Formats: sequence, structure tokens, C-alpha cells
Amino acid sequence: MPELPEMENYKIQLSELIVNRPITSIAINREKSINMPISTFLNQMENAFIIRIERRAKHLLFHLSNQKLLLLHLMLGGWMFYGKEDEKPKRTIQIQFSFGEKHLYFIGLRLGYLHLLTIEECEEKLKELGPEPFNPTFTEDLFINTVNTKRGTLKLKLVDQHFISGIGNCYSDEICYEAQLLPTRKLEDLKDHEIKNLYRSMKKTLAAATNIGGYMEHPLYVGDTKTGSYNDLCKVYDREGEACQRCQNKIRMVKISSKKSFYCPGCQF
Ligand SMILES: [Zn+2]
Repeated sequence: MPELPEMENYKIQLSELIVNRPITSIAINREKSINMPISTFLNQMENAFIIRIERRAKHLLFHLSNQKLLLLHLMLGGWMFYGKEDEKPKRTIQIQFSFGEKHLYFIGLRLGYLHLLTIEECEEKLKELGPEPFNPTFTEDLFINTVNTKRGTLKLKLVDQHFISGIGNCYSDEICYEAQLLPTRKLEDLKDHEIKNLYRSMKKTLAAATNIGGYMEHPLYVGDTKTGSYNDLCKVYDREGEACQRCQNKIRMVKISSKKSFYCPGCQF
């Protein structure tokens, strides 16, 4: 599932491609992917265009010229492609936004969705989200205080969107590796210096992955060499049996409440 770096990469790239461009047509092939009848959706979208794209946790918010917004969550298997008709991936397209001869295709939206909401409705929907790792108000002190008041397994807390926004299965493992902490550690047992290290590792890992383009499998457009470049750089995620880059021990996989977690038994404690 795309996480903060993947969605941030989409935000940056799409902001260059579709903001302030007239939407010439919209095709909804799967009504379940939106939150109202297709005809209502098309009526409400009439003459609207995207004025700004924002990311919150693993969502993108397409702010519209009509005071509303489109809230996108790709969930598991969802992705986007932007291009001409003849460049279109050979996949089922659930939603298509056309910008003249180029189109934004939403693909693999099984659980994912694109909801047309008022700003208030969106705020209500997202109000339970935990702090954004790159929000300036999310300081080291705040993180230490938060960790000190919570209990639970490190891996599960990192992917808990009420605890912190935007981290999922891949980056929770990468962050634990960077911090040299076992994903099975309990929050309540972490020492102060370990919490500080975790905070630094979280920012470092997410920033590096965002700058490199995240791990999405598919490019956003033909010639896009950025999207997905982080895929080969994951140090532990999905690398069971491979040698650890830091200590050469073999990476292991453990299931934590049915979630697969990858770690190095040699250099994570
Ligand atoms: Zn190691």
C-alpha cells in the first residue's frame, strides 16, 4: 500500500501536471469508487478544476475551484497513470480524468476510493489522524511525550494512523532497521535515547524515500524515472534470507499480529 513517500511523490509530480488545467471530461467506470451516484458526481464536478494538491497521511486531497475537494485513498493495489490514450496501461480503469489529450487514470481501486467532499466533511473524516512526521509542530519532545504515554508493540504503533500519520508496512520496518530497534520491542520499554533515535530514523527514512521517489511499482507517466526508485533501496522490507548490509546476518521475517515484519537479528536490538 502506498505510504507517505509514495503519496508525497504523487503530490509533487501531479502538481506539475494537472493543477489549474481544465478538466475536459470525467469517466467513472466503477460507481463504488466514488461516494454518490455517477450523475451527481459529474454534475457537482461541472466546470471545476484542481487548484492545489495536498497530502495528509496516505491520502491525497485534490482541492477544487468549487470549494470542494476530492479525497483519494489508493489502499492496497491502487495506483495512478498520466498520459495519452495510446500510453494507457493495459489494466481496468476505474476512474479517468481527462485534460485535453492527456488523462489521469486511477487503476486498481478495489478498496481505494475518490470521494467528493466539502472541506468540512473531509476534516471530519481525517480528524482522527495522528501527527504528520514533517509537520514543524511534531517535535522530538512531542514524540518522546507521545511514546511515553502509549503502550504496545513498536511495529504496530508505527503503522497505527492514530499514533503517527503516513507510515505503513514497508517504512515501519525500514525505520526500525535504521534505528537498530527490533520491531517486536514494546513502546513502554524504550529508553530515552532509543526514542530519540527512532524519531531521527523516522524523519531520515521517510525524507530519503520521498526524495528518491518512493517504491511504487509503476511509473506515473512515460519517461518517469523517479517514481518507484526507492524499491531497490529497501534494506529489510521483503528481503527475508538476504544478507544485512550493515552486519551480513540474514534478514528474518516475523509475523506480528498477522503483519509481516522484516528485521536483522544481528544489528537490531
Ligand atoms: Zn544487520
